[in-house]
Amino acid sequence: MKICKECKSEKDNDCFYGVQGECKECTKLRVKKNSAKVGHKYDFSEIGVIRVIYKTQKRHNKLRGHGDMSYTKKELSLWLYDNGFKCIYDLWVKSGWVTGEKPSVDRLDDFNGYSLQNIQLSTWNANRQHQHEDIMSANGTSGERCKTLYKYDGIKNLIATYVSYSSAARDMGYSLEYQIKKKTKCRGGYFWSYAPF
Ligand SMILES: [Zn+2]
Repeated sequence: MKICKECKSEKDNDCFYGVQGECKECTKLRVKKNSAKVGHKYDFSEIGVIRVIYKTQKRHNKLRGHGDMSYTKKELSLWLYDNGFKCIYDLWVKSGWVTGEKPSVDRLDDFNGYSLQNIQLSTWNANRQHQHEDIMSANGTSGERCKTLYKYDGIKNLIATYVSYSSAARDMGYSLEYQIKKKTKCRGGYFWSYAPF
C-alpha cells in the first residue's frame, strides 16, 4: 500500500506507475489537463500570434474598404522579426500572457490600410493609449472630432454612433469629411451625419 501524494488516498501498489508518487488515476488526470492546455496553446505560440494578427488585419482591411492585403503572412512575419517581435513576444510570455502586453500591430496613418510602410509593432496597451491620446488631443482636421457622429446604412437606417469623427474614420480606415459635408454615401455605402437624420 502506498499513499498518493496528489489525492492523499492510500492505494494498492499496482495503482501506481512504477515508483511514481502519484497514483495512476491522478497521473491520467494530470496528463489530460496538460494536453488540453497544449491543444489550446497554439494561439499563444509565436506563429499562432502572428497568424491571428494577419487574419485580423485582413478582415479589417476588407471591412474598411482597403481591399486585399499588400503583403503576405510570410512577409508580415519577416517584417515582425525584423522589428523586434521576438523581444515583445518574450516580454508578453514573461508577464504571464497579460493581454495589455500582447504584441499588436498598429497603423501609423489610420486613414490608410495595412502596408509594410504604414505599420508599427507595439502592444495592446500602447495601441489603446494611442487612440486615447487622439481623442483627448481633439486636434483633428475637421474640428469636429469630439462630436457624436451617426452612421446610417444605404437607406438611412441608423446603424451606429461614434464618440468622435476620428474614431469613426479610424474604424472605417478612410476620411469621411467630404461625405459628411455633402451628405453623400461613403465608399462603404454608408451615410454619415453629426445630427440624426
Ligand atoms: Zn491519486
